[in-house]
Amino acid sequence: MSINKIQQLLHETFGHQGFKGPQQEVIEHLIAGNDALVVMATGAGKSLCYQLAGLIRDGVTVVISPLIALMKEQVLHLEQLGLKAVCVHAALSWQEVEELESQLLMGELDYLYLSPEKLLNEDMQNLLHQIDIALFAIDEAHCIWRWGEQFRPEYQQLSLLSKQFPRVPRVALTATAGKICRDAVINELALQQARLFEDELDRKNIYYWLQPKKSAKEQLTKFINLRHQNHCGIVYCQTRKKTQDITDYLRQQNFSVGCYHAGMTTEERWQVQSQFLKGNVKVMVATVAFGMGINKPDIRFVAHMDLPRNLESYYQEVGRAGRDGEPADAWMVFGLRDFQLLSQWIEHSDHDETRKQWEREQLFELLNYVIDGNCRRRNLLPGFGIETQHNCEHCDNCQLSSNEEDDNKLAAQALSAVYRCGQNTGIDYLIKVLRGKRVKQVLENNHQQLSVFGIGKSYTEIYWRAVFFRLLQMGAIQLHGDYCELVKLTSKSKPLLNLAIPFSFYKFHYFKEVDYQSHRSYRNHVSEQSSELYKMLWTKRWQLASENKMLDYQIVSDRTLLDLSTQMPLELSQLTEIEGFARETIRRYGEQFLEVVQRYQQQQQHQLDELLSVLTDPVTQKDLENYALHQQLTLQQLAHQLANYIQLKLVRVEEILPVSKDELYLFQRGWTFTHVESDYAMARKYLEQSKDIDIQSCWLPCLFAEFSQKT
Ligand code: ADP
Ligand code: MG
Repeated sequence: MSINKIQQLLHETFGHQGFKGPQQEVIEHLIAGNDALVVMATGAGKSLCYQLAGLIRDGVTVVISPLIALMKEQVLHLEQLGLKAVCVHAALSWQEVEELESQLLMGELDYLYLSPEKLLNEDMQNLLHQIDIALFAIDEAHCIWRWGEQFRPEYQQLSLLSKQFPRVPRVALTATAGKICRDAVINELALQQARLFEDELDRKNIYYWLQPKKSAKEQLTKFINLRHQNHCGIVYCQTRKKTQDITDYLRQQNFSVGCYHAGMTTEERWQVQSQFLKGNVKVMVATVAFGMGINKPDIRFVAHMDLPRNLESYYQEVGRAGRDGEPADAWMVFGLRDFQLLSQWIEHSDHDETRKQWEREQLFELLNYVIDGNCRRRNLLPGFGIETQHNCEHCDNCQLSSNEEDDNKLAAQALSAVYRCGQNTGIDYLIKVLRGKRVKQVLENNHQQLSVFGIGKSYTEIYWRAVFFRLLQMGAIQLHGDYCELVKLTSKSKPLLNLAIPFSFYKFHYFKEVDYQSHRSYRNHVSEQSSELYKMLWTKRWQLASENKMLDYQIVSDRTLLDLSTQMPLELSQLTEIEGFARETIRRYGEQFLEVVQRYQQQQQHQLDELLSVLTDPVTQKDLENYALHQQLTLQQLAHQLANYIQLKLVRVEEILPVSKDELYLFQRGWTFTHVESDYAMARKYLEQSKDIDIQSCWLPCLFAEFSQKT
């Protein structure tokens, strides 16, 4: 199979402009009949690997997936691309099953999606032995891992594939990369000979924000209000009760919210989930029962109101944000109670000691992650086998760097309080004693008499909390009691008590408005999406989705809308250059999107005519500055308008730009130097440096519009 053929399928059938990550390598490897294990981040495009490879090989591609929702979603997507795919589930009627059988036997299907149960079914096995199978894809392969939250026992029988169909290549795919899990996948699926393909697991579009709880609900609403008005997001809570509580609260605050947990009926859950997928419900407040099988690409934030189970779950949960690659937030508040609750679950569970020990270690890694003041990614990613040398500059710690505090006196005072209060009080209580609070309980215990009473007056409560968190994380204190609510000393306390070793920790901070508003990629995203054409295209997509009883993103993605709105194609043939327009997409929806761009162009033409008539009026001899003033536009806004006209080919740049042809030529030279990254700032810098030309930066959009057409 030539590379050209693969490229052609990628472009024409799947509508993509190029491969992402190791996709091409995986595909070639599978086409050649080999097995593979693919570990790529959520949203990185794992499905394409087996969908494209399977299409090239003879026979039907059999995909095993844990959830009907996931299967249906993919089947719909493939149908939209003009391919033949079927998903087998319990609700099929016998006629449907019969038809499916005949289609399979006739070789009419491209893809067959099966739950593991269906695959293991004897009739199905017999059927599969009678037909050509291109390859087996085992999606969400981490479901095989016993200790994982998404464990599915049936997955463990999938090793029979290698025995029953030794000649059919198998590919297992997952976004979960922890070593124990990966080994389990390899062993249980007998993939020892398979080649491992790994991609960058770091989701660069996700921004991490973590802070301690204070008034968690207000913290949450502030975050949503400042960064995510009208965006879709998930708010995770640990318990059903809390889920309900937060839902009620957000509803009172006039947010569009839904609630989802395992205590609701299937019907209720299905209802609210579909409202969320349609975008009618913006914020989904849920327990971890919600998420797997949610392929909604435009979830802009995932908020944790409580600590997740461990970093592995956390990474998976936040991975549900920004599947479309656009900027998204992972936000969390954490508190001591979460930590207690998780400890309690571990200690009280019926797991064996090996597993408990592993879970404790996981919990400590999580604790370290939340309280550390260094780059979040540098803390998070090594746990998934990813080494990072540099700070990411894309998390709260990188942006709002907080200095490490060094004070072993504080540790000694805290530990001394633990000791003097009898090692059977909680941390909140200890902080009250240290800060000299004469509350009822302290007085009842006569602890106002202790030497430690009030010695930490000058530090705030949150400051002390950071100290205790750090002591816990170091193992210098330990939780105990029925609810893990009490604190006691450990063998590691002594050197700290004796001031024999240094003690350092990071101060906690709360986010301010400016913090939330200051980071750049987010702002750009919002401004792009506020363009008039984007809104018109968005409405068209919504209309198409309603007509076809589909979800918006199943028509085309937000990225495709953005590309349409910036590239403004006017002919069908130009659509092939836009990401997301497969041949079939163009056939189904191409004309309708083009009409929108054309309508927009006409509107613009109208406005431009007006502008030109003013500018060329010999009586007034108005210039652009004057015109802008008159229209109450800033020069920047006017420049953006003009950039649109240029892009729509309604006018040539030299007709309206306040620079001469020579200057334009100079700029163009500069542009060809810098356009590699098409970086606005770099081009601007070039302009400032080259003294020959003096173009106000506000005209840059026009120039960019002009030159992006030429390149
Ligand atoms: P994963 O299973 O790895 O989480 P998916 O297979 O669901 O991810 O793909 C996520 C998104 O990426 C989909 O919308 C898909 O269309 C898109 N995608 C896949 N491959 C490419 C590609 N080569 N170029 C652009 N988009 C792609
Ligand atoms: Mg997937």
